[in-house]
Amino acid sequence: NKQVILKDYVSGCPEESDMHVNIVAVTLKVPEGFNGVLVKNLYLSCDPYMGGRMKNKPGGIKPGSSIRGHGVAKVVDSGHPDFKNGDLVWGITNWEEYSLIDSPESLHKIEHTDVPLSYYTGILGMPGMTAYGGFYQVCSPEKGQYVFVSAASGAVGQLVGQFAKLLGCYVVGSAGTKHKVDLLKNKFGFDHAFNYKEEPNFDAALKRCFPDGIDIYFDNVGGKMLDAVLLNMRPFGRIAVCGMISQYGNNQPEGVHNLMALVGKQATMEGFRAANYYHLYPKYLEMVLSYIRQGKIVYVEDITEGLESAPAALAGLFTGRNVGKQVVEVARE
Ligand code: NDP
Repeated sequence: NKQVILKDYVSGCPEESDMHVNIVAVTLKVPEGFNGVLVKNLYLSCDPYMGGRMKNKPGGIKPGSSIRGHGVAKVVDSGHPDFKNGDLVWGITNWEEYSLIDSPESLHKIEHTDVPLSYYTGILGMPGMTAYGGFYQVCSPEKGQYVFVSAASGAVGQLVGQFAKLLGCYVVGSAGTKHKVDLLKNKFGFDHAFNYKEEPNFDAALKRCFPDGIDIYFDNVGGKMLDAVLLNMRPFGRIAVCGMISQYGNNQPEGVHNLMALVGKQATMEGFRAANYYHLYPKYLEMVLSYIRQGKIVYVEDITEGLESAPAALAGLFTGRNVGKQVVEVARE
C-alpha cells in the first residue's frame, strides 16, 4: 500500500519536501468484527485547508502518518450494512492506495456516474458546496449586482463566477497568471478579469473594473486584496469570507486596515464553512448536474497522475501552480 506521509509539522505553507511516499503491506479485507469499509482510493483532492492540518495544532495530521483529505474511492470490502463492494463514495480518506474507513457514515455515496468521477473532489464535492453555500446563502445575490471573486480560476472561484453569471450579475475575477485571466474571460464567461501579480495597485484595478463599486465580494485570499475591496464596497454590500490563502503561510497574519469602511457602507462581512450547507447537498446536486449536462457550467481540473505526484500538487496550491481544481489520480477504477 503506497502512502503519502507527513515528515514533520509544517510551519509556513506546505512544500513538496514536507511529505514522502512510503510502501507498507496491506490485507485487502476488513478485519474481523470491523464495522467500517476498506476502500480503493481513485481520486484525491488537494485543498488549501490541508496546509493547516499539517501544522502542530490540535486535530491535525501527526508526523509519520499519512496525509488525510477529501477523495473519491471504491468500496472493496465492507463490514458495514449500508455499504457493499463496488459502491463509489466521496468524503474524507487517507492519501494511500487503500484505506480503512472506520466511520463510513461520513461518506457520500455516488449515484451519478455520467459525469467524470473526479468531479466529486470539486464541483460535485466539498468545493462545490463551498461555492453554493457561500454564494447563494451568504452573499444573498440579486440579478444585476456587481460581484468580485478572488483566486477566481480555482476550484471554488470558477464556480462562484459562473453561478453569478447565470443569475445575471456583472462578474469580475482576479488570478495570478495571464493564462488564468484568459480562462476567466473566455471559458468561464466573467465580464472582466485582472492579473493581481501584474497590477499590484489593487485599488486602481478594482476602480477600473467597478467604477460604481462592488455589491458582493467572495473572498478567497484575504490580506491586501480584502483591504482594497473594503474601500470599493457599495452601500449594503456583502463580503463572504471563504478563505484567506494569502495569509496561510504567515504565523502572524497581516493586519486589515480598512474595516471602518463597513460602518459607513453598512456592509456585512461573514465567514462560513462548506459543512454548514451539507444538508442542502441533494438540492445542489440536482441543480448543478443539470447545469453540467446542459453545458451551462464548465469545470476545469488540473489532474496529476500517481501518489508520487501528490506532494508537489498539494504544495502547488500555495504558489498558484494549479490551473483549476487540483486533483491527484491514484487509479481509474
Ligand atoms: P484554488 O483551486 O483556488 O487554489 C488555490 C489558489 O490560490 C492558487 O491557485 C492561487 O491562484 C491562489 N493563491 C495562492 N497563494 C496566493 C496568495 N498569496 N495570494 C493570492 N492568491 C493566492 O483553491 P480552492 O478553490 O480550493 O480554495 C479557494 C479558497 O477557498 C481558499 O482560501 C480556501 O481555503 C477556501 N476554502 C474555504 C472553504 C470553507 O468551507 N470556507 C472550503 C474550501 C475552500 P492564483 O494563481 O490566482 O494566485
